[in-house]
Amino acid sequence: YENLKSIDHSLKTTIDNGASKTKQLIGSALKAHVDNVDPDTCDAGEEDPFFVADLGEVYRQHLRWKKNLPRVTPHYAVKCNPDKRVLSLLANLGVGFDCASKAEIDMALNIGVQPERIIYAQPCKTKSYVRYAAQRNVKQMTFDNADELHKVKQLFPDAELFLRILTDDSGSLCRLSQKFGASLDSTAELLVLAKQLELNVVGVAFHVGSGASDPKAFIKAVQDARFVFDQAAALGFQMHTLDVGGGFNCDDDFETMATVLSASLDEYFPDEIRIIAEPGRYYVSTAFTIACHVIARRTIADASLGTTSYMLYLNDGAYGNFSSIIFDHQNPEPRLLKCGGKNLFDVRRPGYETPSGYEYSIWGPTCDGIDNISKCCTFAEVINVGDWLYFENMGAYTKCSATRFNGFTDTHDVEYVCSEEDALPFIGA
Ligand code: PLP
Repeated sequence: YENLKSIDHSLKTTIDNGASKTKQLIGSALKAHVDNVDPDTCDAGEEDPFFVADLGEVYRQHLRWKKNLPRVTPHYAVKCNPDKRVLSLLANLGVGFDCASKAEIDMALNIGVQPERIIYAQPCKTKSYVRYAAQRNVKQMTFDNADELHKVKQLFPDAELFLRILTDDSGSLCRLSQKFGASLDSTAELLVLAKQLELNVVGVAFHVGSGASDPKAFIKAVQDARFVFDQAAALGFQMHTLDVGGGFNCDDDFETMATVLSASLDEYFPDEIRIIAEPGRYYVSTAFTIACHVIARRTIADASLGTTSYMLYLNDGAYGNFSSIIFDHQNPEPRLLKCGGKNLFDVRRPGYETPSGYEYSIWGPTCDGIDNISKCCTFAEVINVGDWLYFENMGAYTKCSATRFNGFTDTHDVEYVCSEEDALPFIGA
């Protein structure tokens, strides 16, 4: 972690040039792959969708985090994308891990992460998983209700507990507070119970909702956390850690969020306490691009209007890596990769997909009508069966929630590139 400090000065240039480096490298890898596939002769599955991931982008995001949130130690939310190479890069960079289940705890432990760098951040846990966490000495875990306290008392009385509080997550893409979080009306009662049970409550956790857009949500949550810290102190607890959860986006809003959060932390927690976070999409969203093959096409000719449009069927969809459309409220944007034998990745530029071109709707490969990727998009080219499309920003909540519905595979190749030389020492094999 210390090693990274020396490269902070060149951070701005590194980040500014990052997106184009990522694009270039990913573009070359996409082209090389599809040029090797002949749909007329290939074996079944050779034309399957595949990802290209730029580990250099993940590394840059980490530098950006360190620069903007120096007081906050990130614990990557494994659920977002449990890619092994990403996990091991982040582990080598000193990042901790937010795990939601036994399997995720194992993923972190199996790459050599020490148990104290893991938080089992699931307020409603499976009993046998709590026993497992105890066996593996993963002590940090969240709770938000009385039943969970009794469960922990029975199974892991030495656990280090974080009281997860409710937030205003109305400005987020995926709201979590409908399901988790203790209201401030109930925190005193929960802390009294924890005291009676002689449990060790060490901190407060919150999550402002995934894909949060309102920095003010952080201000209120930090304020509320301070309130609960003070309640706990009055009851004799010595809380030492605040967990500010996830919800960080990777676009330019990140800097604003980070500034607002840092200012609130300095205001409400001026003393030296440990502050951690659980970012997921922030680290991986922009690092992954997916390429998909056009497996079928239906031409819709409207004689009365004299128009022709097309329905394109891809070999991936809402039951696969595009599950993010349904679960994560995303609108992945189709781009042309290879069309009519020509590689178009390089010539793509803003406005390339022209509104005066041909109209398409884009569908996944399963039998279900819900399996739709785009209701309407326009390209200058006529896209045919055998062509390839690609979609950027496909790293978060995509392959982790893909299913095998209709017998399609839920595992796809990931080709790795690295646009940052400085990241190489941190990347495992
Ligand atoms: N922590 C918890 C407890 C979560 O439930 C989630 C997402 O659902 C995250 C962290 C990651 O959130 P994000 O990807 O928005 O950073």
